[in-house]
Amino acid sequence: MRVLITGGAGFLGSHLCDRFLAEGHNVVAMDNLVTGNVRNIAHLAGNPDFHFIKHDVTNYIFLDGSIDAVLHFASPASPIDYLKLPIQTLKVGSLGTHNALGLALAKGARFLLASTSEIYGDPLEHPQKETYVGNVDAIGPRGVYDEAKRFAEALTMAYHNAHNVDTRIVRIFNTYGPRMRLEDGRVVPNFIAQSLRGEPLTVYGDGSQTRSFQYVSDLIDGLYRLLMSDYNQPVNIGNPHEMSILEFAQVVNEITGNQAGIIYKDVRIKGDPQTRKPDITRAKTILGWEPKVELREGLKLTIDHFRRVL
Ligand code: UDP
Repeated sequence: MRVLITGGAGFLGSHLCDRFLAEGHNVVAMDNLVTGNVRNIAHLAGNPDFHFIKHDVTNYIFLDGSIDAVLHFASPASPIDYLKLPIQTLKVGSLGTHNALGLALAKGARFLLASTSEIYGDPLEHPQKETYVGNVDAIGPRGVYDEAKRFAEALTMAYHNAHNVDTRIVRIFNTYGPRMRLEDGRVVPNFIAQSLRGEPLTVYGDGSQTRSFQYVSDLIDGLYRLLMSDYNQPVNIGNPHEMSILEFAQVVNEITGNQAGIIYKDVRIKGDPQTRKPDITRAKTILGWEPKVELREGLKLTIDHFRRVL
């Protein structure tokens, strides 16, 4: 297959490039490098099956030749990034998704949308099943991301229903691993960087809010299976191992041997979900997928990466 990966120089996009190349496919990565970085794909330079195009997908996407699959991963994805880039975030989710779907339609390609657990907002159902419609504040600070992704899902289903495009929607839950940006402000790079510097970890609020963290290789495996399936409805891909942010901080300090403890900061973004945990019954049933990498194992691999880049 020849696949286009938008956001191909980002954290997830670059791991997808690696996986598709390893499976023997030809990969075109597209990125405007606003939050992506060519460092993430530098090791692919010179690979005859890999091409990089610097392009902002909110503008018309022109691509020569055939394309068998479009994986739409371009978007700022951390709360700090989309607060800094609210309009770009809305544009890439709406105009960018429209262009990527238009390309898939023109090329007769399969289309996979990177959606998110954020479409459930601050959820009132726990754990979150794909049938849950969510609790999102459209004009709250996180609304720019949540509503962009909700629109992107709606547009994807519309292209499926109206134009018969063979679409997939993945709802990605918190994912961590090598190549996360140190400064993207998310809890995993923040805590790891702080602990490696011997600083206290900044727990926002009282740390009772929960998340469920999956290691990147598990996600990539789920994405690959989903693309190769024939399933058009949304699928949660995440690790159901839920923990409070306070517990998570303690695990990071324990693994790194950081003695500096934690400090509490009152800086939670309005609408910061209080709980988050995927129900992965659908992924298990339809894709035969479930996560394999334990938190401590994945964290060790991630910490090794951050040691090298710090
Ligand atoms: N958080 C924290 N300390 C940090 C960064 C984040 O306590 O230094 C909290 C944040 O308030 C949220 C959770 O960790 O409740 C996960 O935040 P993240 O930005 O990683 O992503 P989210 O899951 O909110 O999109």
